[in-house]
Amino acid sequence: MCALPGGTLATRPLHFIWICDASGSMSLDGKIQSLNNAIHKTLPQMRLVADENPNATVLIRTLRFSSGATWVQNAPVPLENFQWTDLSADEVPQTAAFSAEFKKRLDREGAKSGDVQFSLMWNNYNDLDLHAICPCGTEICYSKKKCSVCQGELDVDMNVNPTSEEPVENIYWPPGGSPMGHYQVFVNHFNNHGRSGCTDPTSFKVAVSIGGIVQEFTGNINEKNKKLIYEFDLDETMATVGGGNTDMGTALEMVAQQLKTPPMSDRALPPVLVLLSDGQPTDDFEKGLRALMAQPWAKKAVRIAIAIGQDADEDVLQKFIAHPEFKPLKASNPESLLTYIKWASTAVLKAASSPSGQVVGASGNVPIAPPPTVKTYSTGDVW
Ligand SMILES: [Zn+2]
Repeated sequence: MCALPGGTLATRPLHFIWICDASGSMSLDGKIQSLNNAIHKTLPQMRLVADENPNATVLIRTLRFSSGATWVQNAPVPLENFQWTDLSADEVPQTAAFSAEFKKRLDREGAKSGDVQFSLMWNNYNDLDLHAICPCGTEICYSKKKCSVCQGELDVDMNVNPTSEEPVENIYWPPGGSPMGHYQVFVNHFNNHGRSGCTDPTSFKVAVSIGGIVQEFTGNINEKNKKLIYEFDLDETMATVGGGNTDMGTALEMVAQQLKTPPMSDRALPPVLVLLSDGQPTDDFEKGLRALMAQPWAKKAVRIAIAIGQDADEDVLQKFIAHPEFKPLKASNPESLLTYIKWASTAVLKAASSPSGQVVGASGNVPIAPPPTVKTYSTGDVW
């Protein structure tokens, strides 16, 4: 349908924009595949909803952001012709993993891992100890196994008694919980139990893992000695496993460009903007948000945010929504992600395109029904 001179029905464009995080961390635990699957699955239902409102022409576009942002389609595509192009996340930077021997011993002891993790191994019955000073200033070691502030923890401690010739020790911070600041890691030779073959100095290896990048150090140590092995300052760019950029601010600036009039027409319906992210912005989010919200069409838009997994930055997603009654939707597994994507592409689309939705409420926004509550699924929270 189109607006012909003297024609009876002129349709009004409704722009629906997917704004998708494709940073390295989206490649982990099947997140990006789940996103692709969910949109493929809901596309037919989205078309049915659009067909119910012939006065609206739904136009779709996808913006992918990681390092910078790019439009997947050169121009908005009418829903009837729209095909979802599978997004691929950035490659997680090649990491030097723990060497096989470290991995074998850590697995054997059920050691936990995190964005920051230190491990120690040696090959005799002596009691060597791993110590770490966290950014809070706590010395985490056998006598104080956990920092109550940052939750850094010595979870494997061996050879207090001479029990193993293949010992390992481990200190980790919960994933996503490593505090910024200065870290130090030490080896202390606490006791030579006097077993045969336990002549000092004892040689050892220390593995330092920061954001999935592992460095190994070798050394040797005499009884009652303590050595500083490594120290570093953790900053935001090193802290997240997967690393890479999440240029959400850039993405919002690019959406702002498209919501100007022109290319938007005065006759458009309020757009629908759906922002999906599993991390925190690494660029100037506030600047991007200001540019976006300077556009009247962005203010009128229905803005939905889906937080994928626990590392998503709910504060920035809430700022994007900029509505006190609506919260970011938390997707912690593929089923809940599908539920929210379906809701955004059907119920929200329906509200934005239906004649009643065109009566803009006092808040200046299209009234939309509350999102579905996600019940607890048998699969549990995987993200
Ligand atoms: Zn601490």
